[in-house]
Amino acid sequence: MSILVVGSVALDYLETPHGIMKNALGGSATFVSISASYLSQPVRFVGIVGGDFPEEHIGYFQSRGIDLEGLVRVPEGKTFSWGGRYHEDMNNRDTLYTELGVFETFSPEIPDIWKASEFIVLGNIHPILQLHVLDQISSPRYIICDTMNLWIDISREDLLRTIARVDALILNDQEAKMLTGLSNVIAAGKHILTLGPEHVVIKKGEHGALLMSRDRIFSAPAFPLDAIKDPTGAGDSFAGGFAGWLSRTNDTSFENLKRAVICGSTMASFCVEQFSIEGLRDLSAEAIAERYLAFHDLAAFELPEKL
Ligand code: AMP
Repeated sequence: MSILVVGSVALDYLETPHGIMKNALGGSATFVSISASYLSQPVRFVGIVGGDFPEEHIGYFQSRGIDLEGLVRVPEGKTFSWGGRYHEDMNNRDTLYTELGVFETFSPEIPDIWKASEFIVLGNIHPILQLHVLDQISSPRYIICDTMNLWIDISREDLLRTIARVDALILNDQEAKMLTGLSNVIAAGKHILTLGPEHVVIKKGEHGALLMSRDRIFSAPAFPLDAIKDPTGAGDSFAGGFAGWLSRTNDTSFENLKRAVICGSTMASFCVEQFSIEGLRDLSAEAIAERYLAFHDLAAFELPEKL
């Protein structure tokens, strides 16, 4: 099945306790598409970059089989850039700056031949742009939406309109609480399920992720890593792995969504081991399968004969 990814493409400034990286390849669509490309093809990419965007990154996307027909290049413009600084506890970060550059005038236009794509990932961008994408696609099988605190804060009504039209919303625990005004994550998830989506995934950083439908809950652990270098893109890599698994299997049952959550968590765990996209750059199918199985061992236990 095909996956259509829409989101930001960035040259980021990253500061973590493990170092600094300038002009780091980033952006929501970048992480989502690279991560998804390990699981399913074709991956169709819609985004925008400026004349400063290095040709080698274009070559890398192509080498991953990512179709760039929907990538707009504006030679006279500057690529979107985000600066972030992580605290010693890398669950917390500060945004140092956001320079929109070519994103300021961006309106995602979906090439005609992509309008019938089956799996849609609305990466983290302004909810009005996400709505514009939804208005163009014809008969999607499953729509996944990611977002961030900024849009909950400044564009809540537009975000609620987007959420009402998607199948799954992926967000972190802080965002879920912020969106609903509820301090309990489960209560927040249940509330989100009344807003339109059939499924919600609430990511809890190093504490894993919760998948919820109206009548079921699945709790997945995070992969225990003692060397996290840069958490940037973990959420997007999760979304890419989640979408990639669903597209590969063309099965959106709750049982299969559980596998998709583990697949998302697997891809996110590779992402955070290196700066920028480096942890995802060159993964083998064996390495992904090995970590996927390690996830299974992490949470599986045998029931005692008698309780
Ligand atoms: P994550 O760590 O999964 O939240 O994603 C980090 C990526 O989101 C970075 O590479 C940024 O370039 C990108 N990003 C940060 N702020 C925004 C924004 N306002 N709109 C779109 N993308 C953003």
